[in-house]
Amino acid sequence: MSVSKKMQMFAEKSSWIRKMFEEGARMKAEFGDEKVFDFSLGNPDVPPPPRFTEVLRELVEEDRPGMHAYMPNGGLPWVREALAAKLSQEQGVEIGAGEVLMTCGAAGALNVVMKALLDPGDEVIILSPFFVEYNFYVDNHGGQTKIVPTDEEFCLDLGAIEAALSEKTKAVLINSPNNPTGQVYSRESLAALGRLLDEAGEKFCTTIYLISDEPYRKIVFDDCEVPSIMEATDNSIVVSSYSKDLSLPGERIGYLAVHPEIFEKTMLLDALTLANRILGFVNAPALMQRVVERLQDETVDTSIYARRREIFCRVLDEAGFEYVRPRGAFYLFPKTPIDDVEFCGLLQEEKILAVPGRGFGAPGYIRLAFCVPDDVIERSADGFKRAMEKCRR
Ligand code: PLP
Repeated sequence: MSVSKKMQMFAEKSSWIRKMFEEGARMKAEFGDEKVFDFSLGNPDVPPPPRFTEVLRELVEEDRPGMHAYMPNGGLPWVREALAAKLSQEQGVEIGAGEVLMTCGAAGALNVVMKALLDPGDEVIILSPFFVEYNFYVDNHGGQTKIVPTDEEFCLDLGAIEAALSEKTKAVLINSPNNPTGQVYSRESLAALGRLLDEAGEKFCTTIYLISDEPYRKIVFDDCEVPSIMEATDNSIVVSSYSKDLSLPGERIGYLAVHPEIFEKTMLLDALTLANRILGFVNAPALMQRVVERLQDETVDTSIYARRREIFCRVLDEAGFEYVRPRGAFYLFPKTPIDDVEFCGLLQEEKILAVPGRGFGAPGYIRLAFCVPDDVIERSADGFKRAMEKCRR
């Protein structure tokens, strides 16, 4: 066998979203796109803001010499400058251009951070339900994830996190607004988490970093506030991207920012910059860096996601699901009345595609992505009802 045993095992473990994706493609070919209700993929369908195309045109017309050349591994200085100003507002901490690195999406940023921080055997605490790729990114760099559940509302369970901390803990990785639950962590709980990590760092004579993965920061509902993690602890790192808030996931443009007072900042920034290079990213895409520099105040039309959330909640209410109302992102994570995989089978009979919660470390739930037109959600209502009725029989 040429493929490593580990990759074979990973392919098996990561198979839920892939399986549903393949199943969706098969069903669409068989029954036609219109007849299939595919809620399996978090691939934004809302178009980028109109200004995106204008800026792209402006840049192509400017066509400056060297526009597509190699650059410093951390990114174009003036782009980092513009982003640092924006992040200073968002995080409530004065962040300089030198504390920001442009990356290939949030995924690239997470790999860069893990590469820079982890020694073999170091632990990274992640919270379930989790974005499944975290396990792979941590493993890529020799670390191990330690999974800690959130509470019944998918909020931070500080007692459980405290119990999981040890001398091996290098970082706690959080994601708010959350994929798959849509939950947003409160300012108080983040402040308490920051204190907890600072105290544990002292107790274990180490530094425990708080890493916040925030690509959904700007997709929130009912004026929900996404609090700063940099106000919670100095040893904090933000990773994010323009994949969701500008609907540019295929363009692979993201960033990371470190707290200006983070422990051993210069050494850490040098390591992060080197990691960006030697992981083979070299630097984030040049044209997209220039584009996002001019789009710092732009966001997709989030009212579209807000409207879909309303429609979907109504569909789920009418079918009798239990769920926590999402405060951000574009997912719902309802409870299943029977085993989640079996329930996905019942939904499939109704041509509805959902991802079993166990794919996110949370059996007994399903993830529904609302990256589909309103009418797809509306037309799925009877299918959800029938699937629930089958469970009651
Ligand atoms: N983090 C979370 C929670 C995500 O949902 C995603 C993508 O779906 C990513 C990171 C990766 O984002 P990007 O496409 O910017 O690499």
